[in-house]
Amino acid sequence: MGYLSLLMSAESSAPVPPAVSMDNIVALAKRRGFIFQSSEIYGGFNGFFDYGPLGAELKKNIRDCWWNDMVRRREDIVGIETSIIMHPKVWEASGHVAGFSDPMVDCKVSKQRFRADQLFFAEVLVANVSAGHSASFSEKPSSAISYEKIGYVSALESERTKEELQEKAAQLKRKKGVQGLLGDVQMKDFTAATSAEVPLIPSPATGEPGSLTEARSFNMMFQTNVGAMTDASSVAYLRPETAQGMFVDFKNVWDTGRVKLPFGIAQIGKSFRNEITPRNFIFRSREFEQMEMEYFIHEDADWSKCHQEWIEWCRQWLISVGLPESHLSLYAHPKEKLAFYSKGTVDIMFNYPFGVQELWGIAARGNYDLGQHAQASGKPQEVFDETTKKKFVPHVIEPAVGVDRILLAVLCAGYAEEDVKDDKGNVEKRTVLRLSPRIAPVKVAVLPLLKNKEALVGRAQALYKKLQRRYAVFFDDGGNIGKRYRRQDEIGTPWCVTIDFETIEQPGDTFTLRERDSMAQRRITEAELFALLEEHVY
Ligand code: ATP
Repeated sequence: MGYLSLLMSAESSAPVPPAVSMDNIVALAKRRGFIFQSSEIYGGFNGFFDYGPLGAELKKNIRDCWWNDMVRRREDIVGIETSIIMHPKVWEASGHVAGFSDPMVDCKVSKQRFRADQLFFAEVLVANVSAGHSASFSEKPSSAISYEKIGYVSALESERTKEELQEKAAQLKRKKGVQGLLGDVQMKDFTAATSAEVPLIPSPATGEPGSLTEARSFNMMFQTNVGAMTDASSVAYLRPETAQGMFVDFKNVWDTGRVKLPFGIAQIGKSFRNEITPRNFIFRSREFEQMEMEYFIHEDADWSKCHQEWIEWCRQWLISVGLPESHLSLYAHPKEKLAFYSKGTVDIMFNYPFGVQELWGIAARGNYDLGQHAQASGKPQEVFDETTKKKFVPHVIEPAVGVDRILLAVLCAGYAEEDVKDDKGNVEKRTVLRLSPRIAPVKVAVLPLLKNKEALVGRAQALYKKLQRRYAVFFDDGGNIGKRYRRQDEIGTPWCVTIDFETIEQPGDTFTLRERDSMAQRRITEAELFALLEEHVY
């Protein structure tokens, strides 16, 4: 377990904070057709999103890169696609029916619902000391100072929860007209509130105490009914993760897939969680897409080495699709917070504008899942070891990531606003999305310099048609060339090629190639353009 503690310390080297705000990202996503609210004409539907033309391309590219690197380019991993609604017994065996829940608290007045572990509260203490002491006490009040508890304050989790609680404590002291020094708030989350405290804690919705319920478990699986009956016997669930599909099909793949240990089964697909508080745009939604892989290993294999290798593989993969290393960090879950069967979980964290958050979880799950399904189904999930002549249940390492969280990360990391000079030397703002060519929704924009010159448009169309057979390309003949470049910068197109007079009048059939990031221009032939794409788009 030595490397886990090493990872913990790596986390403290805080990544560089991104300059971009979520407002910029949400505005760009809407303006350029990456992401829309679901059912927007009906006022939207909280926790659900639609991907527009560019978003759908970007998402598909992320999926394709993962599938190519994870499945097609490896000899030890196969891909499958399992159904979203599975036998309800799957979710009983996996533990989701009993335990896939978040603690929730209701406000009876506002009818709002909060996640109890994201709702913070603090006692407001005022010390009865004479003037001359410091303005507040930050230590836990000692018996040497007499203090008075004047009430409670509460706030929802944010980057400044503690400050907000402190401000509310000062307001309460003023409101109550109490003299003395205000204590520094000691915040706790609502799951730690005692039954006596619950009625005294104000609701974050109304600011008044008395309306919050005690925290209780809320199962996050969406239920549905299968068939014509809607009684208990027809209850089924939309899957909250894709992973169980790989466990349930383990034997099918083992018997038919010509695989041997160690090997992995991968899947990409939609998952559904009835999140109590969906938030941060597409970061936490109720319908999202996962890319998960179960890597099965021998029961005697060195699981920690394998775990470590997968953490590094995932980290490198994120870098390969354009996430800067400086925005990534690792978080090892403390041992006491792990499920009893878990050997270790490390999350790759990304520095989003709203804080450092989980992007990709890599869990060493022992043989818990296959063991559970063997027991519940009565079908052994063992394999035979030719060397030891023993049967055993394989262990597993599980890297699990959300496509939507990667998409949000690449938008946040790639977004920039810069001052640049136009042709006449005037300074103007350009918004640029520095997406990796691997995932950019449009790889090349083909631009005839003038719309009304047949020779230019004809040559541009011929190039466009040829490129289109292999790549996502865009043809744009409208407006001044500088504006056309800016439009492509904003959607992350790595290259523009302009078909100009030199193309048709000079020998060599060359075009102007303009690079998004440096804005540098150079001449390039068609063959060189294809070679450039071949090198960067894979
Ligand atoms: P969190 O702690 O953020 O709720 P989790 O630990 O429950 O996430 P896992 O069950 O490990 O997440 O799921 C694997 C991956 O699926 C996560 O790392 C994340 O990328 C993605 N994911 C999980 N829940 C959501 C969600 N509600 N919306 C979008 N992506 C999600």
